[in-house]
Amino acid sequence: MKVLSVTSELFPLVKTGGLADVTGALPKALSTHGVETRTLLPGYPRVLERLGDASVLAELTLLGVKCRLLCSEVEGLELYVLDSPDLYDRRGGLYVDENGFDYPDNWKRFAALSLAGALLADGELDPWRPHVVHAHDWQAAMTPVYLRHKLESTTPTMLTIHNLAFQGQFSFERLGDLQLPSKSYDIGCLEYYGSASFLKAGIQTSDIVTTVSPTYAREILSETLGMGMEGVLRANRSKLKGIVNGIDTEVWNPAKDSCLVATFDTEKLTRRALNRQHLTKLFDFGHPQGPVFAVVSRLTWQKGIDLLIEAVPHLVQAGGRLIVCGQGDRDLQDGLANLAKEYPEKVAVSIGYNEGLAHLIFGGSDFLIQPSRFEPCGLTQLYALRYGAIPIVGRTGGLSETIIDANDAATAIETATGIQFHPVNTDELKHAIDRAFEIHEDHESMRKLQRHGMSADFTWQCSARRYARMFHEMSRLSPRIVPLSVPPVARRLQTSTKASAG
Ligand code: ADP
Repeated sequence: MKVLSVTSELFPLVKTGGLADVTGALPKALSTHGVETRTLLPGYPRVLERLGDASVLAELTLLGVKCRLLCSEVEGLELYVLDSPDLYDRRGGLYVDENGFDYPDNWKRFAALSLAGALLADGELDPWRPHVVHAHDWQAAMTPVYLRHKLESTTPTMLTIHNLAFQGQFSFERLGDLQLPSKSYDIGCLEYYGSASFLKAGIQTSDIVTTVSPTYAREILSETLGMGMEGVLRANRSKLKGIVNGIDTEVWNPAKDSCLVATFDTEKLTRRALNRQHLTKLFDFGHPQGPVFAVVSRLTWQKGIDLLIEAVPHLVQAGGRLIVCGQGDRDLQDGLANLAKEYPEKVAVSIGYNEGLAHLIFGGSDFLIQPSRFEPCGLTQLYALRYGAIPIVGRTGGLSETIIDANDAATAIETATGIQFHPVNTDELKHAIDRAFEIHEDHESMRKLQRHGMSADFTWQCSARRYARMFHEMSRLSPRIVPLSVPPVARRLQTSTKASAG
């Protein structure tokens, strides 16, 4: 069984959030279920740097832009990389410029990626031909559209929504020529409240739509969390499934993690104190008796960072410390920076993306706060669990499924792993923080929660089996794929060249 995964992010090459973790981990997990995955992603400079020797599979023009399709293997991941400096060599982030504004040609950058995915899936660029295409988020959501509407291919497609807040919406004036037939622009496909939405078009066109937890799959059918897409999703309800994410326990293993000062496991939990010591020294906290809280997150409204800011005085006055590692909205970054100034040695803020620091924070802090207003799955709380930081989470989406609240019943049968609060507002967050202080004072309760969390099984085992089963079912429904021996449109170059954006 062969699957082509099309994505705009992939760990360990390029990551802004959980999407990369999933697309990086799933191929390994699927391989044990007889699924061979190859992944297509954009040739951002940091991806090209990691490719080393890559073969050039094809030189082609996509939506008027010159591109090369490269092929390589990195850390066990089989990759296709769409190399096009015009599209992907940018100064800012993956999707926004240095000032936080979307690149105006994002439609073209990701439509081209999707078109390349469709051509690959249809066997036009490489003899390797997938039985199923797995597209991730709006950036890849046009892959099924190109397959069905442009190439008239029946290759089965799955679209996974990692976060419905991002819909790839463009006004028709800004949208250039997608090279699709006119029927693709109508209400049955791209048209969305007078604009075009890549995500909507993908939902309409894919055979299966999944999202990253069963709870979120239900929540997005409601007006509250449907983000305007609830009508489209309800109409496509029969093909909507929720599969919870897992974590890569090789990358996230406190017993072997080189980012930690001291490795540990449930048997050697006392060693964890060395990481806490290091962390508190790093942030000039002295030797705090009270709990050390932490946040590792995109700093956005979704993640409830404004609620956190309001709760910080309460946390500090009660004797807690707070470390925040993240980046995002300017006003939230400024709000946090002001708190760090107001409470030196009690609140520390590290603005930016720092993978190593994130590992250390999970392995050294006492509690990880995640006050998300909505959370499709959330991986951060799973890493915290595995590293012995007790999660404090808003009860929504995947957070409600993965964290067992330390209420009396769960504590009595020793299944609790964290603290949930609901509704998600500042008062409830403060109350949850108070509960954390109580737990922290009781050494035995603290240790039990940590042990339960560290022992909880969030490997990909179960979810990968579900994906694999679906891929197998989908492939059985499709007509037999006849492998092409000679790619018809690609000019295959026999030479192996250094991958570059040239
Ligand atoms: P989302 O994808 O919505 O941002 P997830 O919890 O699913 O949220 O995944 C977030 C991922 O990004 C986790 O791997 C988390 O550790 C990581 N992360 C978030 N912010 C930072 C940061 N500032 N530095 C390092 N890693 C971060």
